[in-house]
Formats: sequence, C-alpha cells, structure tokens
Amino acid sequence: MSHAKQVIAVSDISTKVREIETAYRNYLDVFRIPEDHRIVVNYSAGKDSTATLAVANALFGRRVQAVMADTDNEHELTIDFARTIHEQIGCHPVQVVKRIYSEADFARRRAYMKKNWSKKQAIRMGAYRGVIMPSLARADTAFGRVWQKTAKRWGIDFETALDAALSVMHPSGNSFLDAALLHGKFPMLRDRFCTDELKIQIAYDAAIRPMLDEGEVVVQWSGVRGDESSKRAGYDRFAVDMRDEGYLYNFLPIHQWTAADVFALHRYLGIKPNPLYLQGASRVGCMNCVLCNKEEISETAARWPEHIEKHRQWEMKVRLASRWVHWMSTGTVSQAWVNSIIGFREITHRRGETVKVRRLLGDVPRLYGLDTEVQHLDWSGFYGPRGGMGAPSVPEVVEWARTGRGGKVYDLVKASLNTATCSSRYGLCE
Ligand code: SF4
Repeated sequence: MSHAKQVIAVSDISTKVREIETAYRNYLDVFRIPEDHRIVVNYSAGKDSTATLAVANALFGRRVQAVMADTDNEHELTIDFARTIHEQIGCHPVQVVKRIYSEADFARRRAYMKKNWSKKQAIRMGAYRGVIMPSLARADTAFGRVWQKTAKRWGIDFETALDAALSVMHPSGNSFLDAALLHGKFPMLRDRFCTDELKIQIAYDAAIRPMLDEGEVVVQWSGVRGDESSKRAGYDRFAVDMRDEGYLYNFLPIHQWTAADVFALHRYLGIKPNPLYLQGASRVGCMNCVLCNKEEISETAARWPEHIEKHRQWEMKVRLASRWVHWMSTGTVSQAWVNSIIGFREITHRRGETVKVRRLLGDVPRLYGLDTEVQHLDWSGFYGPRGGMGAPSVPEVVEWARTGRGGKVYDLVKASLNTATCSSRYGLCE
C-alpha cells in the first residue's frame, strides 16, 4: 500500500472513532445511562471484535472489560490471541469463559432416554409424520434384530441402540461435543444451540450477570457490521437488552464500518490481527463453524487436518446419541418393516379433533413425496446436508468440498451463509 493511501486511511479512522464517541454519548443521554456504567465487549478474537475492543479502550480505558466464550471448537491460535491481545491494546486481559456441562446434566439426559427411548413414539413432523418409531431398548423385536446389523456395520458391540447411546452419555471433557451429545445432534442453521449455550448464555452468566447483580448498569459493545448480512444490517445501533431492562444495553459501534475500515484501524493503532488471517482464513472462531462454506472446509482440510479429524471422531459419538439416526440407520434393510407400519398408521385432524385413520398404501409407499427406499442414514453429520447428500459424514463432506464440481451448489451455500451465518446481534461468532 502506498504512503498516500495509508495517510487517508488514518485520517478516516480518527474521524470514524470520533463519530463513535459522539454517537455513544448521545445514546447515554437519551437512555439516561449513568456516566459510571460498565462496558463489556463481546470478544471473538476476530478482526471486528478486536477493532471494537480497541475503540472501547481508546475512548473509555479501564472501564472496559472484554469477554470471550471458548466453545472448545476454536483454533488454538485464536485462544492464544485472545489471551494476549491486551498486550497489544493496553486494556484489561480478556476474560475467557467456557460453558461446562456437568455429570448431573448427563444424568438427567440418561434418565430421560431410559424412560422415553424404551417406549414407542409417533413422529410428529416431516416426511415420516404419523409413523411409529419402535422401542430402542429391546433386542427381541423386528427393529432390535435389524439394528444389530447397524451395530456390526458401525463396529460396536451393544445389545440395543439405547445401550449404545448410554455408553457415550457422559461428560467428554469438550464443551462443544458435550452440547452435541446432550442434544443428540450437531447444531444447524435453525437450531444453533452452540451460539446460544456456548457463547451468549455463558458470557452473560459468567461476565455480565455478576456486574448486574452488583447494581451496575452495563452496555455491551459488539463488533457487528451491517454489510455482512441483511439480518445484521437490520439491527439497531443501540438498544435496550430485554434480559435486564433498564440495566443492560447493546451498542454496535462499528455497525456502518467495512472490513477495510476494520483493518485500517488495526494499522492505525499498530495492532497485528489474529494470525489465522495471515494463514489464509477468511473468518476466525470455530474451526470449523458447522455452517461454514465449501471453500472453508477444503481450506481447513488442507491446512489444519487435525480439526477435520476432531470432527470425524465427534461424529462417531454423536450418532450414537441420536434416536433418529439409530432408527434411520436400518434404512432399506427395514423398509418392509416401515411399510408394514405406515400401512395403518396415519394421524389426521377432523373438525379440530385428532383421529387415527387406517389407510393401506400398497407394496411401495411414498412418504409424503419421498421414496422410502432411499431413506438411510448413518450419521448425524457435523456439517449437515451438503452437496445433495442427506446426512454425510465429515470425510464425505471433505471429498465433496475438494471437488471442482458443484460450483452452483457452492454459490448457493455461500449466498445463504452471507445472510444466515452466526448472525447473533451479540457478535460472539465471527
Ligand atoms: S461459529 Fe458456528 S459452530 Fe461456532 S458457535 Fe458460532 S454458529 Fe456455532
């Protein structure tokens, strides 16, 4: 970059930082927030939260505390960066917190599974709505005998699917994996429990709630930028946080900034960004995010294969914790058994009443448009459905990500991620 360009960037940045100060002081007046309030910066070790922390520190110094939630799915360089960023910025050290799932959490889940997986259960949604799932606790039923073929294919030795599930239902020592085990699946676009439990809730419980309990008024600063997605663009720059109305507020200081502005601020203040950016990462934080795009998957497979292997090992455990995968793993082997059930089980509603109607479907039924013969799952996949595969394993997704084919799919995935990935207003996931 030329010297002239750098001078322009520096000038712009100081103006932008002054704009943040003026706007913030105006919000303090409008919302009648006391001058001695506390500022908590949601920190992810990415460029945006680093810029936010640097600005907060430059304007309000020792009143600022940053908090980072470690999901146990982060790259080690990201955690190192968070633990040392205060040396570059001159702020308080970042408070790194982690959600820990206890043996009591798992005991509750085991008790639930023992009680409910032993019973038959009607599927209430989706293509199999109305189908009755059998007991997963018996070895002497048609399903139990078919499931033994699953156990053989998976290389495990248990009498029943429930026994297999209970074997992994203990704290693993890794919070991300524990969350997936307790939910019986990995997080996905419409069920991002990782963000909720491993980031937002623990940051609140460990860092913000103690301040509120002491009677402090707290403003959270988050490095959310509007140009990253339409959802992010729609957030108010300053808002009351309803988790503690009147005492907790949210501020998005760099909402109108671009990525170039953020890096210009790094240069302006002499801050070196997270080294993962220099190694080719376009996003830092979870390695990988369950929602990351094809490009990031192939990048991680090439540069940090140990993280791909980590997810492969997690998948081996999480599939055992999924009632759905156990049932669907019997796949085409058990189609005759599924057909015999769907032939006379269908729930319909009539004048507000639920009635069961006997309906015979013939030899090759179609389940609400899906061909039963292709329904066969072996995985609760870390990356969810990809490349036209319903429930692929990590190695299958990596293979797909490496291929040059599927460019159309990539564009669609990328486009959807631009609007959907980690769009929490707290900016805890980059
Ligand atoms: S970065 Fe992705 S995987 Fe990690 S907590 Fe956020 S949504 Fe979940």
